Amino acid sequence: MLVDYHSHTRLCKHAEGDSADYVAAAIARGLDEFGLCDHSPMPGGFDPESRMEPEQFEPEFLPMVRAAQDRFGDQIALKFGIEADFEPGTETWLADFLARHPFDYVIGSVHFLGSWGFDHPGFVHRFDERPLVDIYADYYDAIARSARSGLFDIIGHADLVKKFGHRLPDDQRDLHRDLVNEAMRAVKSADMTVEINTAGLRKPVGEIYPSELVLTLCRDLGIPLTLGSDAHRPSEVATDFDRAVALVERFGGGQIATFTARERTMAPVG
Ligand code: ZN
Ligand code: FE
Ligand code: FE
Ligand code: ZN
Repeated sequence: MLVDYHSHTRLCKHAEGDSADYVAAAIARGLDEFGLCDHSPMPGGFDPESRMEPEQFEPEFLPMVRAAQDRFGDQIALKFGIEADFEPGTETWLADFLARHPFDYVIGSVHFLGSWGFDHPGFVHRFDERPLVDIYADYYDAIARSARSGLFDIIGHADLVKKFGHRLPDDQRDLHRDLVNEAMRAVKSADMTVEINTAGLRKPVGEIYPSELVLTLCRDLGIPLTLGSDAHRPSEVATDFDRAVALVERFGGGQIATFTARERTMAPVG
C-alpha cells in the first residue's frame, strides 16, 4: 500500500494546479491512494495569504475535488483531506467546519508561534532573536496542544521548526529529546498518526520531516506513521517516497495508516 495524503492546489495561492492534475500525477506514480487536500480556510483573517477564503471552500474547492473524483475515481482510490492549522482561539470555528464536511482525514499543522509565521522565508530573521532551544520548546508545546485539542488525525511535518536549517546542537540532544518526548506522548494519548513528509528534502534543511530523533520516539511509543509529499505542484507528488518507505520499515514496523471517514486502518507499506 502506497499513499500520498498531503497535497495542495492553486487555491492556497502558493501552489500550482487543480486537484485533477495532482491525481493524474499520483496515477502515473503508481500510488494506491491519493489524498485530495489543501490548506484549510481559517476564520478571522488568519494567514489569508496562504489559503483559500472560507467563502471559496464550497463553490470552488469542493467542485474541483469532485471533478477529480469523477474523472479519475475508477483508476485510483481517492481520499478527501485537509491540512488545518492549530491556532489557539480558532478551535470552535474549526471543529464546526471539520464536522460539516466529509473528510477522510485532517492533518493538523503548526506553522505559527504566536504571530510569527516561522516557516515563512520573509520572517526567518526572527530565529536570531531568541535562543533556539526556547523556540523549539515553544514549537513542541504547540504540537502537544494541537494533539490535545482533539481536532486532528495526523500531525503534519512534526519538526517543521528545522525548515531553514536551525538544528539544535548535539550538546542539547537530551533536552531536545525531552521536548519531543513530551509532545509525542500527547500525540500518542490522542491516538494520532505522524506523517513522514518528504517536503523537507526540498527545503534548506534538506531532510525529511520528522527527524530520526522524532521517529525513534514514535517507534518507542507505538505511534502509527503515514506518508505525504506536501506537493505544491503536481510534479512533486510522491517525491522521494523510496526514502520515506525505508523510514516506515525502520520506525513503523512496515505499516502505514490509511484513513476513511476519519477512521484509521493499518496496511503494509510498499
Ligand atoms: Zn503550503
Ligand atoms: Fe504545512
Ligand atoms: Fe502542506
Ligand atoms: Zn504542509
